[in-house]
Parts: sequence; structure tokens; C-alpha cells
Amino acid sequence: MSNKGYNTFMSTPYIENLNRGRFETWTIEPELEFVQVKQVHGTDIATLETLPCEADGIMVSWEEFNKPLAIKTADCMPIIIEGAKGVIFLHAGWRGLAEGILKRSEIEVIVPQRVLIGPSIHDCCFEVTPEFKDHFKGSPNFSQREGKLYFNLQQEAKRELRELFPSLLIEITPICTASNCDFHSYRRDKTSQRNWNLYIKG
Ligand SMILES: [Zn+2]
Repeated sequence: MSNKGYNTFMSTPYIENLNRGRFETWTIEPELEFVQVKQVHGTDIATLETLPCEADGIMVSWEEFNKPLAIKTADCMPIIIEGAKGVIFLHAGWRGLAEGILKRSEIEVIVPQRVLIGPSIHDCCFEVTPEFKDHFKGSPNFSQREGKLYFNLQQEAKRELRELFPSLLIEITPICTASNCDFHSYRRDKTSQRNWNLYIKG
């Protein structure tokens, strides 16, 4: 992927009335009019009525979904949740996850059916300290390699979502932003640049 290009990730099965948007990750700010929030690594989810505001998620009904939704990341997870009644786009790093962004009541409101976790840091690169375990007590998603501890954010997100919504389809994009130099990674480069994850109509 070049800096001007974009990629599309979504290979989950077709679900009637659900394929209203597509997911893309751009490495430059797209020249499009889009909806975004001021991301603060929290758990608040904005609506079109509450924007502009600080939040780490955007919720729109299908009727309201006209402009692309944007979530900026540089290792955190961009998570699209499509439901019968609308769509939620989340910015979820370990902090948001630990604070319960996937347990927000808004998710139930859209009647979630399908989830896509986009390019983000995977457990090949997400080394954590032993103290980090306190944020996810009892989680099975830690692993050890050569004396180092790693955490699997995507599997943790999947586990939390499955607990609440057992029949949810969940797809994890197999791209680690820290391993793949086509994407911006804070862990790898301490970059101030961001991946622009878009959920676009059509
Ligand atoms: Zn990696």
C-alpha cells in the first residue's frame, strides 16, 4: 500500500441488510468529508447530536449513515460493529478495553450482528510489563516468549464481545500495524502520523 492508496478489509459472509458500508484504512488523511470524534482513549460513544465532542466511538443509525465515519489509530484497534439498527465505530486500545468500551450499553442498542477489528498491533509485537496484567485480571490472552510477556488485544476484544453477544460474527484483520511498515505504528516508530480507518457507505 502506498501512502496515497488504501486497502479494503472485509471478508465476512454477506448478511442481508447489513452490507451498507465498507471498511478501508488510509495512511494519509482522506480528502473526504467525514464524521470524527476527538479521541481521548476513553469509553464514551458519540452520536451525530453530541458531535463535535471528545469520545472514542461514533454511533449512527442506518438512516443517519451518509458521511464516512473515521477513527484514527497507530496500533490501537479500529472496531466496526454493524447491527440491525445501525453501526458503531470504536477506537479501542488497551486502555479503552480495560475501561470497558466493549461493554457500553450503546452496542446492545444497535442489535449487533457483525464485527470487524481492523489493522492494529498484534501479539507478535505487543509486549507488556508484568504489571500490565492487572488491567486484564484472569485474561487467557497473555503469552510468553523468551521470557517476555505479550498480550493479544484482538482476542481479548473478541472474548469480551462473545460473552455479551454469543452469536456475533467477529473478523480480525490479520495485519499487525507494528510488523507491517505499510501502516503507521506508534510502538514501532513513536510516530505522530495516524492510520485513517474509514467506514464508507456502499
Ligand atoms: Zn507484529
